[in-house]
Amino acid sequence: MSVYAVPKLEDYSPEALDCAVAELLAALNNETDALRSESDWKTFRDRWLARKNGILTQVNDTWLKAAPGPAKREVGRRVNDLKTRAETAIEDAHGKIRGASADARLAAEHLDISLPGIQRPIGVKHPVLRVMDEIVAVFKAMGYSIGEGPEVETDYYNFESLNFPPNHPARDTQDTLFIAGQERKPPRDRLLLRTHTSPVQIRTMEKQPPPLRIVIPGKVHRNDPLDATHSPVFHQVEGLAVDRNITFCDLKGTLDHAMKALFGAEVKTRFYPSFFPFTEPSADMQVSCIFCSGKGCRKCKFSGWIELLGCGMVDPNVFEFVKQNGYDSLKISGFAFGMGVERIAMLKYEVEGIQLFYEGDVRFLEQFA
Ligand SMILES: [Zn+2]
Repeated sequence: MSVYAVPKLEDYSPEALDCAVAELLAALNNETDALRSESDWKTFRDRWLARKNGILTQVNDTWLKAAPGPAKREVGRRVNDLKTRAETAIEDAHGKIRGASADARLAAEHLDISLPGIQRPIGVKHPVLRVMDEIVAVFKAMGYSIGEGPEVETDYYNFESLNFPPNHPARDTQDTLFIAGQERKPPRDRLLLRTHTSPVQIRTMEKQPPPLRIVIPGKVHRNDPLDATHSPVFHQVEGLAVDRNITFCDLKGTLDHAMKALFGAEVKTRFYPSFFPFTEPSADMQVSCIFCSGKGCRKCKFSGWIELLGCGMVDPNVFEFVKQNGYDSLKISGFAFGMGVERIAMLKYEVEGIQLFYEGDVRFLEQFA
């Protein structure tokens, strides 16, 4: 950009004045065309308008102040006119610069809405939760409500009230994780990680008089090392029905219906005598192998049957603990059952190792999406 001096006036004739004004305005216009940024513009503005030594100040000093008396009026008019036009041109140039930078910003921020967006895969329910919900839904459809309870339980709810007396060998079947440092507490108040969802049976019966139909989904803990079928943390769905005249027949009918709802109408069930402290009589329920329809295969160890859950009629000793709330074993009876959710999920989805459920490997989990 050329820096120019204010033209010297040779005389104060109108022609000479017009010529000098035109020369300055032409220089001004040249400069505005060359402006590219806000800082260009500021430099430009200061050169023209600065009080000290700005071009307009120089014009004032060298033209107007130096003009002889008679010419002052004519010079003053032109200087004012030049000033107005210069100020307007400088302001306009600012507007243009600002508009251009706004345009540039808009161009930089331009969003092409026709581009495909970033697809974030939507999460799905974990297969264990999915199966747990399916099981619960089957029982909900039969009129069961859902019961929940704490994962950190007392010895009383986890064992004693379920007819596992202290030091009873039945406790050995559930290798239990106890909370440390509770030696001073009475044994029944000591805390542990619940080994089954069954404590919620007692907790619910304490709150709610019979009749009762609940399913209890939840997480349970045992001191089992991780192998293909065992995990220290796993999930159960427990069920409890208490009413007048409940018989083993109701238990069989209910579970048979539930298994058909879960695995298909062609599935058969059978019951084998078993033992659990809180049921009497107790049974293990087996379903006909869902892989070979009972013909015999590797999965059912060629027996045609797969053991799936434990069940039985509620032991009258258990009702003793909640007798004050209407659970009189002479008037009412009930059945209970409990199943491992992972086990059923492994059967349903033919998963070979239980650890796959907990490793969080997306390649495994995305198969359930
Ligand atoms: Zn089979």
